[in-house]
Amino acid sequence: MKTILFPQKRIRGTGTTIPMSCLKEPTVATIPRAKKQVTAQKAPLKSRPWHTPAATTDVKSRKPISTISAPKPAVSSTTARKGADKRPAWDVKGQLCDLRKEFSACQVQAEVLTRENLELRSQLGPAEQAARTLEAENKSLIRELTEAQAQTKEDQLELVKLGARVQELEEFLRTQESLIQSMQEKQLQLQEDRKDLATRLENQEKQLQESVAALAKSQAEITAQAALLAERTENLHCLEMERRHLLNQLQELKGNIRVFCRVRPVLPGEPVPPPGLISFPPGPRGASEPSTQLSLTRPSDDRCSIIGKLPSPPVRYDFSFDQVFLPDSRQNEVFEEVSLLVQSALDGYPVCIFAYGQTGSGKTFTMEGGPGGDPQVEGLIPRAVRHLFSVAKKLEVQGWSYTFVASYVEIYNETIRDLLVRVGGPQKCQGGECEIRLAGPGSKDLIVTNAQYVPVSCEEEVESLLHLARQNRAVARTTQNEQSSRSHSVFQLQISGRHMGQNLHCTAPLNLVDLAGSERLDPGLSTGPADRERLKETQAINSSLSTLGLVIMALSNKESHVPYRNSKLTYLLQNSLRGNSKMLMFVNISPLEENFSESLNSLRFASKVNQCVIGTARANKK
Ligand code: ADP
Ligand code: MG
Repeated sequence: MKTILFPQKRIRGTGTTIPMSCLKEPTVATIPRAKKQVTAQKAPLKSRPWHTPAATTDVKSRKPISTISAPKPAVSSTTARKGADKRPAWDVKGQLCDLRKEFSACQVQAEVLTRENLELRSQLGPAEQAARTLEAENKSLIRELTEAQAQTKEDQLELVKLGARVQELEEFLRTQESLIQSMQEKQLQLQEDRKDLATRLENQEKQLQESVAALAKSQAEITAQAALLAERTENLHCLEMERRHLLNQLQELKGNIRVFCRVRPVLPGEPVPPPGLISFPPGPRGASEPSTQLSLTRPSDDRCSIIGKLPSPPVRYDFSFDQVFLPDSRQNEVFEEVSLLVQSALDGYPVCIFAYGQTGSGKTFTMEGGPGGDPQVEGLIPRAVRHLFSVAKKLEVQGWSYTFVASYVEIYNETIRDLLVRVGGPQKCQGGECEIRLAGPGSKDLIVTNAQYVPVSCEEEVESLLHLARQNRAVARTTQNEQSSRSHSVFQLQISGRHMGQNLHCTAPLNLVDLAGSERLDPGLSTGPADRERLKETQAINSSLSTLGLVIMALSNKESHVPYRNSKLTYLLQNSLRGNSKMLMFVNISPLEENFSESLNSLRFASKVNQCVIGTARANKK
């Protein structure tokens, strides 16, 4: 039998100690009768978890029961007798004696066993109690074990999760570490850069300081220059005002109403006039001076000799004007003489330039220009506008700013028509009547209702307006029987200038008027409807032209009543036909002999105008 010594067993969890004395077992090897009992007792003991060989050891250490009681010699003698000298069959007494001895030995043995049994029974109670306790403890331990196993499983799962999390964190840590490393590298780089920048900053600060010093020096210079500039601007302004004053004086010396005569050349295909029909006597200073004289000589009447009378002598009519332009005068030469007058409009003086003369004498050529758009033959209107724009631009440097608004109307039979109406556009003028009205309540400016007033700022814009006006006139010419030569056309440019620095403001209109043909009523006109219309036209023209003459006369004579309202033309131009305005009349003359009478009439009318003095011009300044 295996013997392992366990003096005592500590029960896990309970701390209970079971004494080994409780675990005594009877010796079974030597007592066959007790074997059954021992086996019966042994079974529950075997199932005990704490049943250890210690108990066996304890039992073994005891003397076998058989050695305690039975008188060994008797048994030995019997046993010996059985083996060695078996009683003969007849020795019944001997055999009985042996049996008695055996019996008494057995009784002794039975007593011993009974005692032992009792002893064992007395031990069984506490052992069973201990066994139950141990079983309960065993169950609780099994439960605890199960719980511990479940807990272990949970813990293992948790451990697996934690393992994954740890891996994750390790990965994260590695990433962070590499990030930190790269950031550290960057930091190093940035530190390098910072050093560089600090060096550059230092250099630039030095440069800045130098620049600030230079700037301060420059600013001082600029201040000095600005002061100088202001002084010079002031001087310039004074000079400009003086220039305007002198220009005005010059204009006044020339007269605020002047008359220029222009004789057009003989056109190809026209009959050559007799020599001396129109002559240009030189002035007192000879041919170097611009011509101011013109003589018209009526040729002698050849018909007188035919009927037997003496031929009437040629009659000479002498005229003197502010200037006379010969047939070969070019457009630019003409404009040169009027450019200063035109410029007066920028200085705030109302300016009016008329072209007067019979149809075909060159009025439109003078005002608008020749055909074909040749710049050489451009007339006064485009040249004047270009000149004004260019002078206004130069004056901008001196602080002046100008605005220009253009309008272009024609007056036919005392009816006003807008020449800037767009064909196919909103034709205001066709929708409503064009009438002369005050620009607004309290305003003295006049406007034509339903007419276009177009702001212009460059010569191209004006050129397109002139083109439009030409188109509108061409349409009228075909539909209204040469209306253009029977109507006055008035190009108006409202000029408005402002000097912010000096708080000056000046406004003035520039009027460029191509008057209707001044020819008198044809005595050969019949009383038919066409001729009646012609008669009406001529009367209207004559009336308005004579009103123009009367207005100039009234101004010259400083009459209290000036008949502006007697014609649409003078009514429209009344603000430019006052004592404070400057007027220039071109009297256009045809060189042809057949136009002699009309030329004479025109020159007579112009002479009368030329004799007028209409006072001192005053600029419209505020
Ligand atoms: P008006 O307007 O007085 O009726 P125009 O200006 O139409 O006259 O002139 C009549 C013709 O004479 C036009 O063919 C024009 O080109 C021409 N003409 C007028 N003046 C001149 C001039 N100074 N030089 C050349 N041609 C001229
Ligand atoms: Mg004309």
